[in-house]
Amino acid sequence: MASATREREETTTLSVLAGECLVHAEGETHRGDVVVLLKPDNTVLVHDADGYRPVAWLTRADSVSTRRNDGFSITAIAGDRSLHVESQAEYGFGEFPASHAGIPVGDCPECDRVLVRSGGLIGCLGCSNRYGLPDGARLLDEGCDCGLPRMAVDRGETFELCIDRGCESLDEAVTERFDREWSCPACGDDLRVLRRGGLLAGCDAYPDCETAYVIPTGTVSGTCDCGLPRFETRSGGRCLDATCEESV
Ligand SMILES: [Zn+2]
Ligand SMILES: [Zn+2]
Ligand SMILES: [Zn+2]
Ligand SMILES: [Zn+2]
Repeated sequence: MASATREREETTTLSVLAGECLVHAEGETHRGDVVVLLKPDNTVLVHDADGYRPVAWLTRADSVSTRRNDGFSITAIAGDRSLHVESQAEYGFGEFPASHAGIPVGDCPECDRVLVRSGGLIGCLGCSNRYGLPDGARLLDEGCDCGLPRMAVDRGETFELCIDRGCESLDEAVTERFDREWSCPACGDDLRVLRRGGLLAGCDAYPDCETAYVIPTGTVSGTCDCGLPRFETRSGGRCLDATCEESV
């Protein structure tokens, strides 16, 4: 068996090492029967018998080197901090697939493994399929014909769409519904639906008129005294123009 210390290569696996170890960190040395977890992002955690809190850890170390030969040793360095684990007796070693864990939301139509949602992202545990969700998107029970989940998104009204923009486009749906629907309060020209990072309602006279508003995550509930639409959002009612003083 090779005894050379090696720099840990980029990996997507979770390594688990168990043994009686000396753990050197923060100027102290602990000794005990522990489990060492090495995560793909170079986070190292050393766990003993109780509690959720590791005995020692380094989050996203700059470098991790491991040696396995007659036991194991691990050295992790992050800035001016370091963590060194040296086994006195090795109990076991394993390397396992690791992914982000999220709430299961369906099956991947491409590889049949599970799709999970964590925050605004849906990803497949099996392949590289990833779908970013628009702000405030809620998943629907009924799936799309393409096999992916569908979502409801509030942008002026509630649009029900596939989570894959390539399958059904939120931009197209909002444009179809609200393009030229409202008038610019500054010059009277039509407000067009545009994508600049988020979805905007921007004046057609641009660049002569630079009026533009981010379309809020909410549904139109009426008209503001200024003439622009009023929106019902999760944090209450407001004008399309977030700075509008008529909107109280
Ligand atoms: Zn997949
Ligand atoms: Zn679809
Ligand atoms: Zn204008
Ligand atoms: Zn207003």
